[in-house]
Amino acid sequence: MNNLATAYNTQNISFLNLGSDNINNDSYYSASFSFSSSSYQNLYNQLVATNSKNNSINIYLLGDNCNLNGGQASGIPGNACVVGGSYSSQNGFPNAGTSVQPFVSSLVTAHEVGHCLGLYHTFETYFGSEFVNESNCTTAGDLVCDTPAESPNYRWEDNSNCQWLISLTDSNGQNYSPDPHNIMGYTRPSCLQYITGGQGTRIRSVLGSSSTLSGLIATPTITGPTVVCSSAYYAVSPSCSSVTWSSSNPNGLSVNSSTGAATRVNNYNGQVTVTATVSGGGCSTSVSQNVWVGQPGSPLSLNKNINNPPFCVGATVIASINPVGGASSYSWVSNNLSMLEASGSSTYVNLQAIASGTCTFSVTVSNTCATTGKSYFTSIQDCSGGGGMYMTSYPNPSSTTMTVSVTDSLSKGNEGFLPQPYQLSLFNHFGNTVYSVQSDLRTIQLPVGSLPPGIYYLNVFYKEAVLRKQVVIER
Ligand SMILES: [Zn+2]
Repeated sequence: MNNLATAYNTQNISFLNLGSDNINNDSYYSASFSFSSSSYQNLYNQLVATNSKNNSINIYLLGDNCNLNGGQASGIPGNACVVGGSYSSQNGFPNAGTSVQPFVSSLVTAHEVGHCLGLYHTFETYFGSEFVNESNCTTAGDLVCDTPAESPNYRWEDNSNCQWLISLTDSNGQNYSPDPHNIMGYTRPSCLQYITGGQGTRIRSVLGSSSTLSGLIATPTITGPTVVCSSAYYAVSPSCSSVTWSSSNPNGLSVNSSTGAATRVNNYNGQVTVTATVSGGGCSTSVSQNVWVGQPGSPLSLNKNINNPPFCVGATVIASINPVGGASSYSWVSNNLSMLEASGSSTYVNLQAIASGTCTFSVTVSNTCATTGKSYFTSIQDCSGGGGMYMTSYPNPSSTTMTVSVTDSLSKGNEGFLPQPYQLSLFNHFGNTVYSVQSDLRTIQLPVGSLPPGIYYLNVFYKEAVLRKQVVIER
């Protein structure tokens, strides 16, 4: 896996190890390797059909002393390859000399995987010989234009410093200058290092049209900010050979069609869709990203009328607003803390009435560009008829136990008991009673651990008054 990463990661191609298993069979191990022997190739085909997995590349690794010295891919492209045997670290030849190294831990494995991914040898002549001047690079050689042309006669003609031992010219009389480090050439294994950008593009293109391997390609995604204050830059990842950018509203956010450079125009505030139309290199779809330009939108009204029915002293109400376009944070504050407490860091606000009167509370919404906000009005009423009765509950939200305290300011004594009992009921948002108890305890604990999370309504009937509170169960 490390050798595959070395060869491919710079071209945004990475590999996932999906698992491995063992095949214990001497006939594969000791088979006499030969491209031209039909009995060997039959054996090879049996091997690469064993335990084969779909939508993956199956790499069969043979032992260091097997008769296959090197590797073979099942096709170009293909979904299997076999690597095994050993080579001399002195001259790179199979088993020759001393200091024998296994092929499986060399970049020869990356070379065979390259064939599976659709790469030809850099010295390929099946499509005709590639000229040094690259004039026929799309139709000859390895069909890749940023790999230098290479004669088949350069195979294994390198020294221990990966320098060529021979100098040849093409049919135009120009000197070949092949790359000894490209993994798709035949230099000694220690010289193999990488694939080129053109080979990466070819891999995506080949995989995109391969019925067995197309599942290996990731759909490109847009990289770049989701909020633009003045300018930004967009790209696609992995890269595609052709990308054309567009904006759903060029009068709000202009996007340069070739560079992906985006600029806010006309002091626009609002949402714009940035689209990349991609092709080539395995990229065949358009991808879009919603972008907010400038300051967030304006918060709208609360989703409930908190003043009707009356918002009573001691009551808690949860209200909300619709999400505000482009907002990344919300903050709620009361403008009169002796009358109202307000808290919240999202579209929800938790309001607790402390004393009667009129006051306002407000929300501030922000993104990285700017801040906007809105104020809301409330009228808090004393609903106790002058009796000074109110109810509190905590914690809110609750998860397992909710503690409820009933206060009667006309009856401060009597330890933990009120002068007369109250009826406490908890309703869910369908209006069904989920808990009910009669008690005269000033503080009572409600078991709520078995109730589904959600918004509930706590009602306490005490004396002639009804004390109401909205509560949340959360876990
Ligand atoms: Zn090869």
